[in-house]
Amino acid sequence: MMNLILLGPPGSGKGTQARLLEQEHGLTHISTGDILRRAVAEGTPLGEKAGRLMGAGQLVPDEVMIELVRERLQNGVGGGFLLDGFPRTVEQAEALEQMLEEIGETIDRVLSIQVSRKELIKRLLGRASLEGRTDDTEDVISKRLEVYDRQTLPVADFYRRRSILAEVDGTGTIEDVSRDIRMRLKPVGKS
Ligand code: AMP
Repeated sequence: MMNLILLGPPGSGKGTQARLLEQEHGLTHISTGDILRRAVAEGTPLGEKAGRLMGAGQLVPDEVMIELVRERLQNGVGGGFLLDGFPRTVEQAEALEQMLEEIGETIDRVLSIQVSRKELIKRLLGRASLEGRTDDTEDVISKRLEVYDRQTLPVADFYRRRSILAEVDGTGTIEDVSRDIRMRLKPVGKS
């Protein structure tokens, strides 16, 4: 059993790898982006507020996200969980640490998927035309990448200091990336 965080810029293949990890290890996949998109589709008050920010490539306020994840964690995560898209700010990371302490859980590993800026833009523009995601237009893409660098990169440092950060090369095929992740999940000292 393990608890993981998946960190990576938009277009890094984070969602795809999250689904693979979920299947392989039976982890509870908690994707804050999916939760928000569902709220938008259902037209809930959260969805109305979040939809505007998401469409502009901006983050939903920390206190909203922290409460959302707190509720989700309280529903039980017995077999291990995989956080995908949270924490996205140091404030969220600090709140998560507190929440986990309260429920007696810890994070085993934070996987940070690395992809060059040029490759990310190429992938995101491709996805925009394929999936019609409203947050994948060129302006919004550069905003989302800028927000990632400014707000989310410091989260990687936060976990590096706790010695649980593992960097994963996200440039290969889905299978390549997944193999790299598997390698980084092996307990230290075993080969
Ligand atoms: P994602 O699918 O993880 O790329 O999330 C899509 C969008 O949802 C992001 O661009 C943000 O606007 C919003 N979002 C998702 N997770 C968070 C979070 N932890 N904090 C703030 N905003 C979030």
